[in-house]
Amino acid sequence: MPSRSQLANSGPSDSGSSDSVAPVSVPGDLNSQLIGTDVWTEDMVVNAGIPIYDVEFITVGGGLGSFAMADHLRIGGLPTSAIRVLAGIDRPEQTYRYLAENSQIPVTERLRSDSSSTIDNIWGFPSYALREAWAKPGLAGKLRPLKQVFVEPVFDDFYTPQAGQVYESVSQEAARIGWPSMVTKGIVRMVRKRHGGGYFVLFTPPDGAAPTKRIAYRCRFVHIAVGYPGVRFLRDLQEYRQTYRDFNRVVNAYEPHDYVYKELLRRPSTVLVRGSGIVASRILQRLISDRDERGAQTEVLHLFRSYISEPQGDKITFRRDGSNGFAYQGFNFPKSSWGGQLKDRLESLSGPDRAELLKHLGGTNTPKRRDWQEQLTRGRAQGFYRQHVGQVTEVRPGPGQTIATSVVDPNNQPFQLEANFIIDATGLESDISEHRLLKDLLDHTGAQRNHSGRLDVDRTFELVGSRNGDGRIYASGSATLGGYYAGVDSFLGLQYAALTIADDLAAAGFGERIGFGKSISEWWKWMRHQPVADQTHTPPNPIPGTVPA
Ligand SMILES: Cc1cc2nc3c(=O)[nH]c(=O)nc-3n(C[C@H](O)[C@H](O)[C@H](O)COP(=O)(O)OP(=O)(O)OC[C@H]3O[C@@H](n4cnc5c(N)ncnc54)[C@H](O)[C@@H]3O)c2cc1C
Repeated sequence: MPSRSQLANSGPSDSGSSDSVAPVSVPGDLNSQLIGTDVWTEDMVVNAGIPIYDVEFITVGGGLGSFAMADHLRIGGLPTSAIRVLAGIDRPEQTYRYLAENSQIPVTERLRSDSSSTIDNIWGFPSYALREAWAKPGLAGKLRPLKQVFVEPVFDDFYTPQAGQVYESVSQEAARIGWPSMVTKGIVRMVRKRHGGGYFVLFTPPDGAAPTKRIAYRCRFVHIAVGYPGVRFLRDLQEYRQTYRDFNRVVNAYEPHDYVYKELLRRPSTVLVRGSGIVASRILQRLISDRDERGAQTEVLHLFRSYISEPQGDKITFRRDGSNGFAYQGFNFPKSSWGGQLKDRLESLSGPDRAELLKHLGGTNTPKRRDWQEQLTRGRAQGFYRQHVGQVTEVRPGPGQTIATSVVDPNNQPFQLEANFIIDATGLESDISEHRLLKDLLDHTGAQRNHSGRLDVDRTFELVGSRNGDGRIYASGSATLGGYYAGVDSFLGLQYAALTIADDLAAAGFGERIGFGKSISEWWKWMRHQPVADQTHTPPNPIPGTVPA
């Protein structure tokens, strides 16, 4: 399985940072006392030779979740000195872009979220469609995105921004809020409660960047936004890869696998695609576009575990379109989960009922885009795209350099599919315990799992069970799926979480709520690309005896 750091392409990894007691020659490392103790004192950290730095608010991850958080706090008036972003990457969109490009979303391709999911702009206005219209030359170019948002989704597909537009806008906003001055590069190893309140965030800087192996940040508030814990292969594909040491022909859609498409251009080949969500749709689009535009002669086999042949769900309360194997939904959850009646309903549910509703609303689905439909319909008619349904029993080397997949169909009839490459586009995520930091949170801070198996957060995105005196740990992103908000792993969801956390922090005396007047004046600054002011800030609750950062 690709490791977290491989997946994230995130620079320094924590792999060398073993938990064994460090040799004497490495100053400032974890020792067995720190590893085994849930609540640390300053003496314990200092005795291990680990320097302590003070900062009030830390966000861990440095991806789009951390970016949304820092954006809200900076616009709310907090100075860069009160916020530290601990990250293995320099730019907030870096990991997103890495995963997107691997799963065949280049800068020119359109994303899944809608026009108003403006991750670079907390107001959602001007939307991506308006900005695209503004930037396009010629009247026809300008009218196209505007017309699409006007008639979507009935007479046209949902408008979605191009990946490149989102990256560019995130870079601009990052510069405006002073992102580079808030980032410290490295990997967070653990967060432990501090005796007397708040937390220690134990951090591993890149080799040679600091005189000690670890650094401890003492803080009052921590925000965890570490993205996906890792990507999981289907078990049979993982077994095949391990048994036959074949890591090149059986690939995960989130891994770098461009060489597969290059090879397909060189010789006629067969590819087996597994999965029926948006990742599978992208892979199919790439395979068929290469046939259409670049002369590839690829035959595509598509294996479904369960086949959707008709719309699903209750006709009155919940209906989801479905046909040709796919469940169709514009976004990963129905739109009203972000801010309508489904949001209200989820907030009123707890425990297993909430988990059940979320399963019902989400699950594997893909948008029904006209260009994708056309490609697949044509592929079926011409025979180069063939669908199969069944459970895989074994994957092994097949005849003539192929990989053979043995399958049992729904009528218990066995059959075999032979392909030159297999692309796992199921988008399975690893369990949160496979992420070292998340596991440590579960084991040592009182954090718990929710009924969907992820981190249990309350309505303010605070990690249930982890409060320490006046200190709080918050979390957002995919690790919190199953909480009171469905779309946590989306641009809008990350922004909603950030706004909710910022309000909760303000209520706790850290920063101020963004009121009506402030919102208007900050929006006007955003419109004029004016940098967010870095006014002096007095910590609301300084910890006595602090070590200056
Ligand atoms: C291919 C793809 C397409 C998507 N498309 C859309 C879309 O169109 N619209 C939408 O709304 N949402 C979309 N999403 C969902 C979501 O918006 C993104 O996944 C988003 O990047 C999540 O932000 P994040 O901060 O949670 O994670 P990331 O952006 O992945 O950032 C997390 C960062 O934390 C780092 N990290 C992990 N552990 C540590 C540690 N211990 N110490 C320091 N750093 C650590 C990781 O290396 C990573 O850099 C998409 C997701 C994917 C994968």
